Amino acid sequence: MDNLNNKFKEAYEKISYHVKEKLKGEKSGHDWLHVQRVIKNSLRIAEKEGGDREILRFASLLHDVEIGLEHEKGVDHATESAESARKILVRYGLPKKFIDKVVYAIRVHRYGKKIVPKTLEAKILQDADRLDSIGAIGIARAFAYAGSRGAPLYDFNEEVSEYDPFKVKSVVTHFHEKLLKVKDSLHTDAAKSIAEERHRFMVKFIERLMKEISGEA
Ligand code: FE
Repeated sequence: MDNLNNKFKEAYEKISYHVKEKLKGEKSGHDWLHVQRVIKNSLRIAEKEGGDREILRFASLLHDVEIGLEHEKGVDHATESAESARKILVRYGLPKKFIDKVVYAIRVHRYGKKIVPKTLEAKILQDADRLDSIGAIGIARAFAYAGSRGAPLYDFNEEVSEYDPFKVKSVVTHFHEKLLKVKDSLHTDAAKSIAEERHRFMVKFIERLMKEISGEA
């Protein structure tokens, strides 16, 4: 058992270094800081909900590792990150069952895919990632993302429709298509309770933003 624990410890340290290097210069809000917050969110949710902490740590660590491929080639970063995670984890000789669970959680994590996961760890990863897209941090990331893609702050001629992760919209439209709906997509009670105040804060922010734009405030 100790041997296995050492294997996990060594793999986690080395993979952390790899992910941090790989995400250097990432401008779309899926950077190393995001990864660190998702790890923290996952473990925070797991304190109340249970779930295998080792699976959660590795799944959170690797969930966006191939985000760059999505920007470059338009492929789905969840599928690519899952493939990449398997290759990386196999190299460290970790148990196959463990790797399968990490890979599954990563593959289904994306909000836009609307997949309801079959495992607790995959549910927790989805929730942890989604929590990072709402509240003050969600607002900050939405504007950073828009900046990286050259999208405007708002565009009132733009249609608010079904969220499509491959379409870049103005920030205000993005709030209506995705961010204000995130709290209703969460699986665990722990995440739902964290989401409440984050959601309220976003609603307040948007109300104020609209008032300032229209000249009422
Ligand atoms: Fe993410």
